[in-house]
Amino acid sequence: MCGPKSMRSFLAAVAILALTASAAPVCGQTPPNVTVFEGARVITGDGSAPIEDAAIVVSGNRITAVGRRGEVAAPDGAARVDLKGKTVMPALIDAHVHMGYRRGTSFTADNYTRENLLDMLDRYAWYGVAAILETGTGRGDLPYQVRAEARTGARYLTAGSGFGMPNAGPGGAMRDSAYGVTEEEQARKDVQELAAHKPDMVKIWVDDRNGTVEKLKPNLYRAIIDEAHKHSLRVMAHITELADAKDLLRAGLDGFAHMVRDHDVDDEFLALVKARPNVFFTETLWGERRAIFAAKPAWVDDPALRGAFSAESIAQLAEQLSPDPKANAQAVQRARDMAATNLRNTARLYAAGARIGLGTDTGGVSGGQFFGLGTHVELELLVTEVGLTPMQALVIGTRTSAEILGLSDLGAIAAGKSADFIVLDANPLDDIANTRRINRVYLRGERIPRAALSAKWNAKG
Ligand SMILES: [Zn+2]
Repeated sequence: MCGPKSMRSFLAAVAILALTASAAPVCGQTPPNVTVFEGARVITGDGSAPIEDAAIVVSGNRITAVGRRGEVAAPDGAARVDLKGKTVMPALIDAHVHMGYRRGTSFTADNYTRENLLDMLDRYAWYGVAAILETGTGRGDLPYQVRAEARTGARYLTAGSGFGMPNAGPGGAMRDSAYGVTEEEQARKDVQELAAHKPDMVKIWVDDRNGTVEKLKPNLYRAIIDEAHKHSLRVMAHITELADAKDLLRAGLDGFAHMVRDHDVDDEFLALVKARPNVFFTETLWGERRAIFAAKPAWVDDPALRGAFSAESIAQLAEQLSPDPKANAQAVQRARDMAATNLRNTARLYAAGARIGLGTDTGGVSGGQFFGLGTHVELELLVTEVGLTPMQALVIGTRTSAEILGLSDLGAIAAGKSADFIVLDANPLDDIANTRRINRVYLRGERIPRAALSAKWNAKG
């Protein structure tokens, strides 16, 4: 670009190029980096019919024009990339993940390092995920430091440390990352401390984990929600039960990290949701995959998995998706009932017009180490198990999730958006599983070096 010169001179150079279609270098000796991607079918992310034989013009890290080839102006001298026969879709967004604890098949707080966070962001990028939200299991200042860095990989949003009763928030190795609160005044002070880091969300856990821990008390979550709103922060809740979800809506909650899973949602709940149209849900079907799939699904044998995961990880994934002869029958049935309720409630809320985004719980206790893969399987489950069309699922995973996270430059292929998109070898509108047939990924206008990342991971993934 234009080196140390001002942004204004760079923008002026872009404007001159656009107006005159001149290939003459304007700013020093280097023209802006303009590329035209042409010939593909483009799914823009807004739910409208795809553009066949399209052209996407990218200048630096931005999309400047999209339309049918021949109807889109591009400067002379722009680089051209032929994508004939391909399908292009916006990069995905995963609004419920847990960063840092997984490394290969291990799951421990000791893994929560800068290097591991960066590796996970690269894994999301490999799978065409442009941004993720870490939902309340951050440790110390590290998430905020990594968030602020200019680097490769997916964009990092974080809720920092979330809130539960003492030692009763997140599960497994993540448990001690949350604030444990018992008094309203302390809860408010903790929210103030969190707010100083400018988190992208506030997370609370309202769940007794099948009677094994103390559930966050209503007076405490009311204090947390009220204090968060004073700092212009939104609050999302881990929940299981319908009664809690109703009271949280009455308390002003902004979003749900999971679907209601103990009962089918009723008319009273739907009325509460309709009265608060900005309230969002992430459904985390991936996190419940073991209770959804009765047999090993075809994607476990997808050759692309070998590009991102070790043979050991893939073997673990397959084992988890086969019936476990040692499992307690009652626990298995309970998990199956909860997952079936999740699917019905997701369908019912979607039909009622609720704001449903894509969230997987990847990296958590049940989410496992399958960063990025889970995001794609979530899309598939929305189609095969919830009954949505591929286009509806794609809009959930792109535009709606971007809106939920306030990422106004992501979630669509349109002029002015960040150049974050996936090039596919097959059309996901024909079969949603085709989102995994990734040819290449661009984030912020840069091609992700997928082959080099695979080579690194095959050595130590
Ligand atoms: Zn979670």
